[in-house]
Amino acid sequence: MSSQSSVPWYDDFVGVAYRYYDLRMNVVPLFTDRKEAASLWHDTIHPWVDPSIKIRFLELDDNYWFIMGSDTQKPDTNLSFFKELPKSENYERFKKGHGGEAYLRLGVYAKKSLGDVKKDAVCDCSHEAQDHDEGDGDICLFNSCDCKKFSSFQVNLLKKKKILTDIKFLEEKDMKNDPLVWNCLNANKFSKSE
Ligand SMILES: [Zn+2]
Ligand SMILES: [Zn+2]
Repeated sequence: MSSQSSVPWYDDFVGVAYRYYDLRMNVVPLFTDRKEAASLWHDTIHPWVDPSIKIRFLELDDNYWFIMGSDTQKPDTNLSFFKELPKSENYERFKKGHGGEAYLRLGVYAKKSLGDVKKDAVCDCSHEAQDHDEGDGDICLFNSCDCKKFSSFQVNLLKKKKILTDIKFLEEKDMKNDPLVWNCLNANKFSKSE
């Protein structure tokens, strides 16, 4: 057994954003609580040895598994991360555009309501804030749209970053060949499916 198989798995985050920032793609695990993100960075990610950080994307139908782990200088507080997520446009853009390197940073995800945003802010329904009725429970004014309440989100990136160079996209047939991915699925998928 490799030492990596004893690292606990962590999935208590809300998703992953992919953003251009500082001329490089950024992979941004998202948290709702800034303090939680900051302490995870301090305890777990900061002690990671950059060149050993592995980031894997296992594609299964319309979803993908985000899987991330690393060797560390502080084994007592090490964690490996995973999350099953739907493929998105930003994910596909990252897959095509990363060029073998990316920054890892954490992000804090904040929901915004109609009162918090400018008129041209875009709602989850794809229509702008000014197309939502401020008087009557923020419903979207487009006839074809069934959005009942304006909602959008903002991502604030924490400043600290790590450089990712070991990035792989895998399909189901490859999963047994990658120890980190195989450990993750055994611990978090196969053992829980019954
Ligand atoms: Zn809307
Ligand atoms: Zn709408």
